[in-house]
Amino acid sequence: MFRTFVLKSTMRHAVLSLFLLFNAVFVVIAQPFTLPKLPYAYQDYAPYIDAQTMEIHLTKHHQAYVNNLNKALKGTPYDDYTLEDVLLNKSALSSDAIRNNAGGHYNHSLFWEILAPKAKQGAISADLSKEINTSFGNLDSLKKELNKAAMSRFGSGWAWLILTPELKLAVVSTANQDNPLMPLDAQRGIPIAGIDVWEHAYYLNYQNRRADYLSAVWELLNWQIISEKYQKAKENTALMGRIAPLKKKKKG
Ligand code: MN
Repeated sequence: MFRTFVLKSTMRHAVLSLFLLFNAVFVVIAQPFTLPKLPYAYQDYAPYIDAQTMEIHLTKHHQAYVNNLNKALKGTPYDDYTLEDVLLNKSALSSDAIRNNAGGHYNHSLFWEILAPKAKQGAISADLSKEINTSFGNLDSLKKELNKAAMSRFGSGWAWLILTPELKLAVVSTANQDNPLMPLDAQRGIPIAGIDVWEHAYYLNYQNRRADYLSAVWELLNWQIISEKYQKAKENTALMGRIAPLKKKKKG
């Protein structure tokens, strides 16, 4: 018991020293987790997503995931994990509070990154464009497939464009705040883009019209950032190595 305490305490000192040395780096990835800032003002996403929806979505919904995640992790063996480490850990995710809120924090952080008002959007990279053509035919076919995944998700969840461990692009959908990094019985991969299809993402402006909201989200996708995410995912062999390819189920 005492030895465990000393070890933990030494580790905490080491973490503290690192914090002082690499302050800027640690602020981003270390617990407690914090709410990211939106790259643009709430009203800049209008008319596609109204300012009030953006503000409530970030400061109420996302903030709640951050608060509840910090609360759920406190005093657990995972209280010094990075967000990715939590999302990849099966025993951490056996707690619904950790699973829902870690997913909620990760998913929304990614969503804010890939949205931009028209005037601020950058172009898709030649590399990603080529890969989309190879995997889906063209960007419009990808749009159809992503929207289909988003429309057929019953209740709340997300539609994703991911890079699989085989380094292929794929469209998947997850329920609630799950995501394709998690060790679930589904196609896994590194998320490149994600679309929130919870009603809280669109109800004020679009009520039950999820299809209209999806058309609007497509107007806000910043393909420059999505291209950067694709590039980083391809280079992140360490993370990909931790996502095992989906095991084939035995017949019988
Ligand atoms: Mn949301």
